[in-house]
Parts: sequence; structure tokens; C-alpha cells
Amino acid sequence: MGNAKRPDEFELIARFFAPLAEGESGALGLQDDAALLRPEEGKRLIVTTDTLSAGVHFPAEEAPGDIAAKLLGVNLSDLAAMGARPWVYTLSLSLPEDWQPSFLEEFARELGRQQEAYGLHLVGGDTVAGKGPLTLTLTVIGTVDEGGELRRGGAQAGDHVYLSGTLGDGALGLRVMQGEIDGLAGKHAEELLARYRRPRPRVQLGLRLAGLASAAIDVSDGLVADLGHLAKASAHDAIIEAGRVPFSDAARAAFALNPDLMKVALTGGDDYELLFTAPSTAADDIEGLSKELDLALTRIGQMGADGEDAGDVRVIGDDGREMTFAGAGYRHF
Ligand code: ADP
Ligand code: MG
Repeated sequence: MGNAKRPDEFELIARFFAPLAEGESGALGLQDDAALLRPEEGKRLIVTTDTLSAGVHFPAEEAPGDIAAKLLGVNLSDLAAMGARPWVYTLSLSLPEDWQPSFLEEFARELGRQQEAYGLHLVGGDTVAGKGPLTLTLTVIGTVDEGGELRRGGAQAGDHVYLSGTLGDGALGLRVMQGEIDGLAGKHAEELLARYRRPRPRVQLGLRLAGLASAAIDVSDGLVADLGHLAKASAHDAIIEAGRVPFSDAARAAFALNPDLMKVALTGGDDYELLFTAPSTAADDIEGLSKELDLALTRIGQMGADGEDAGDVRVIGDDGREMTFAGAGYRHF
């Protein structure tokens, strides 16, 4: 293993990160103490942050580009769930003792690709090296028109519940990575793995849901848990029909091998799809939006009546009986 000479902190910032700040004058070239930003007139800021740690959120040997895509993707998914347009972000790096320049080079290259795809720029951060595992914190700032933000708490009695894309591919991808799904065709295994490694934050969808959706959340902890957050914030129960939930061919192939994986898909995390509610009067507009974005927007259930206000989530199986789940949703502690 060739150990390339490692740049010091300032060389490192100039070489890998300053290029990612070009295009946003408020970054001040990453050469001042902090960024100086001016949001557009009349806009509100949406701010969110997420930390990923090697060994907890991704395997230590994960490719640098995949780590970059996941780090930005999970944050952009939160912006999407608020209906925000990505604008700028900061990046805090805690590097392991044996870090290599080639890691940062590939990591920064992927950040550059993602910036271009989603229209945002790096404006600051912090860089330390320590004895711990690689740990990355990214904070992203987006903008919304005043009053145009999507919140978790706006769902009304009888609103339809929608899900974008397909459910469970992320959680099943993690099971593939851990070698827990035997006999899956290579193509399907690859598709599930890719969904786990590279979230596809639904930024365009989030932007278009203003005025259509009554409430929204992104599916990061699992459908049942995240719908529970939306239902509690909205003070209405939610009812899901399992038979309506959209699954990919790869997920269905996994269920055929092991029917128990259906529960993994319904409760597992890492999908980064949008879950949202809308009044029945919005159904045609949502169908049109789905065609326009070439993205499935599937009605999977509805909010309960007024009075059903515990914020409970009920999932009705194909046999008409309510399904039960043990410990739905990932919790760190
Ligand atoms: P301080 O010692 O005052 O915290 P730093 O040397 O950490 O200052 O940072 C100097 C400048 O470089 C700041 O503008 C900071 O935002 C930027 N910066 C530091 N690390 C990163 C990074 N990983 N990504 C982007 N910008 C960074
Ligand atoms: Mg610093």
C-alpha cells in the first residue's frame, strides 16, 4: 500500500473542499472564519443535520463515493420532506488516524457530482483527525416560500396516504449485504444493495407537493414508525392496506424466498421515499404529478376519522386481518 504524503489541514481544505465552494460567493472561498449567506427575499430557511459513523451507519470498508452519496442523500431527503429547495451545506469530518488522501479525493469527487445533480454548494465545515472511527456530519440548508413548507402535523380525517417509489428495498439491501438472504438472483441482489447504498432523495417531488400534500415525512426509520410520527403529529390514526404497498420486483423475489421479509420491508429503514397525505380532492393532481415526474405515487391507505386521535398505525394484511409488528423502526438507544 503506497502511503501518499498527507496534506495538512489547510492544504486539505484548499485541495478537496474549496473547489466544491466555487459557485456560491457566500462561501468566501472557505477562506474566512465562517460563511456569509443571504437568502432570497421572502424565503424561509429549512435546516437539517445528520451524522454517519463508520461501523454504525455504514461498513468501515464502504466505498468513499457511496459514503458521500449517502451522507448528502439522507440530509436531502429531510429537505425533500419539508418541501425545500437545496441551497448550501456544511461538512464536519472526523478522520481516523490512518486516513488516506485517496479517500478524500474520491469522497469529494462524488460530493461534486451530487452538488450538480441537486443544485447546492459547500460553504463551510470542520476537519479533525482523531483515534475514533470515520465520522461525518453534514448540515444542509434549503429554502421554501413563506408558508410553503410541508409539516408532519397537517393530515386531516380521511386524507389519503401516499408513498413514493417502492418500499423496503433499502432494508432488504442491508440484509443482502449481511448475507441474510440466500438464493436471490444476482440482478435483484444488486438492485437492493444499490438502494441501500445510494438513497435517491425525492427533492423534486417535495418541491411539487406544496399546496397538494397536507402532511409529509421521509421514510428513514421504516414505514410503520415514520407513519406513526406523522399520525401522532396530526392527531389522527392511520390505516395502511399491505396489499396496496408498492414493492420492487427485487423485493418480491426476496419475499418469495422468505415470506417473513415482508415485515422487514414494512418496518425496515433506509428507503428515503416520501410518505405524504392529501385530501381526496387532490387525487387527480397527484396522479398527474406522478406521470410528470415518472415516479410512482401510490395510495396505500388513509387517515382515520375525527375522534381516532391516538396517532396509531394499523396495517391490514391481504387476509383482512390486522398485522402486528415487534419493535417497528430502528432506534439507536
Ligand atoms: P477554525 O479553526 O476557526 O474552526 P477552520 O480552520 O476549521 O477554522 O476552518 C477554516 C475555514 O475552512 C472555515 O471557513 C471552515 O468553514 C472551512 N472548513 C474547514 N473544514 C472544512 C470542511 N471539511 N469542509 C468545508 N469547509 C471546511
Ligand atoms: Mg474548525
